[in-house]
Amino acid sequence: MPTPPTFDYDVAIIGAGPAGAACALGLRHSGLRVALLDKSQFPRDKVCGDAIPGHALKALRQLDPTFADSLWQLQPLDAVRQSKLVAPNGDSLVLQWKLPSFNCPRETFDDALLALVRTHAPATTILENTSLKGLQIELDHVRLQPTQGPEITCQLVIGCDGANSVVSRKLLPEPRLARAHHCVGVRAYFENIAGAESGTTEFFLTRDYLAGYCWLFPVGQGRYNVGLGMLAEVVAEHKVDLKETLQRLLTTHPALAGRFAEARQLGPTVGFGLPLGGGRVRPISGERFMLCGDAASLIDPLQGHGIDTAIQSGMLAAVQATACFTKQDFNAGHMASYDAQVAEKIGKKLAKSYRLMRFLSTKPWLVNAAVRLARVPGLKPWVQKAIG
Ligand SMILES: Cc1cc2nc3c(=O)[nH]c(=O)nc-3n(C[C@H](O)[C@H](O)[C@H](O)COP(=O)(O)OP(=O)(O)OC[C@H]3O[C@@H](n4cnc5c(N)ncnc54)[C@H](O)[C@@H]3O)c2cc1C
Repeated sequence: MPTPPTFDYDVAIIGAGPAGAACALGLRHSGLRVALLDKSQFPRDKVCGDAIPGHALKALRQLDPTFADSLWQLQPLDAVRQSKLVAPNGDSLVLQWKLPSFNCPRETFDDALLALVRTHAPATTILENTSLKGLQIELDHVRLQPTQGPEITCQLVIGCDGANSVVSRKLLPEPRLARAHHCVGVRAYFENIAGAESGTTEFFLTRDYLAGYCWLFPVGQGRYNVGLGMLAEVVAEHKVDLKETLQRLLTTHPALAGRFAEARQLGPTVGFGLPLGGGRVRPISGERFMLCGDAASLIDPLQGHGIDTAIQSGMLAAVQATACFTKQDFNAGHMASYDAQVAEKIGKKLAKSYRLMRFLSTKPWLVNAAVRLARVPGLKPWVQKAIG
């Protein structure tokens, strides 16, 4: 199945975050010569809320149950089984999740995921400190230019290089940032926050900024990931300074202020972009390439999680890559079956979330009403189903 080594690798995966690592794990038995490039040296930080969705672990379990089991060992606290949602009017609602999940700083989680690749995909060459700056699709191969070192050649490239994906910008350029389909988020670590429970993630909605929320997630060792995310459209329209707004919320929001009286911030407040899925149909593949995870804009627009969809899309890309080598077909028409799989297995749910996020974003009264309604016996499952 793999081609004679005319080229350096059969497959080059750019980015070793959840999407890239899952893709490499998906290809571990393919017999293909895989390179996994990342600009960073692991362990590396990634700005995130650090909530590892249950669906991320479920997807990895499909590849090998021991993958999910070993990642669960990272979990220093109780599993997260419930979330507390505080409505703009201060009413709150506790939602129980069917799939348990856990919180873990990404520096630790992503390093553990990459360690699985090292152990279980020995045919994968991991190239850290290797930043991609350019690439060209040729008739029978792909040429990759790292910022340092010689050109790398391969037959297929898979862009898992996150929200500022070089692969996406070079191969599917967009004239400008689509602010209706991007969020911006900031987060900081804190300790000594009063009243937080280890198995509960907390979400706070404010009537001023409904296309987003403030979160408080316990991540173990007495530390909390606290952040604020918002639709880029709203940030630009209202000229919101997210770092300043987060600090203000922590000292003035009725459900938060008292709890931060003795809190201490650990390190700086840092921000990053969240490319949202579900709002528009955009190709995520073409001749000899595919995009996964944030590079393919697959973040859930309502809840802001994307580790699960990154892992799911990385696994789908691995299946498509194997099919490409079996059929020796790397044409855009054949690659489009990857788009169809992602649309079917991930995109439909994201589209529903996007519609709901847009619908609720101008209606604080409706969010308040939904939280109140969920307290009526029998109605909570309906509200929970709508949120996802
Ligand atoms: C503030 C914030 C809070 C969030 N909270 C959550 C949450 O709690 N739960 C959740 O599920 N999701 C959350 N997300 C979304 C989540 O972080 C992403 O969806 C997820 O990291 C996507 O994984 P990925 O592998 O596609 O990209 P990434 O995790 O970004 O990995 C991309 C990798 O590519 C590498 N790379 C980038 N450019 C290059 C290059 N040119 N050459 C080589 N390598 C390159 C990077 O170093 C990185 O390792 C949050 C995002 C933000 C910004």
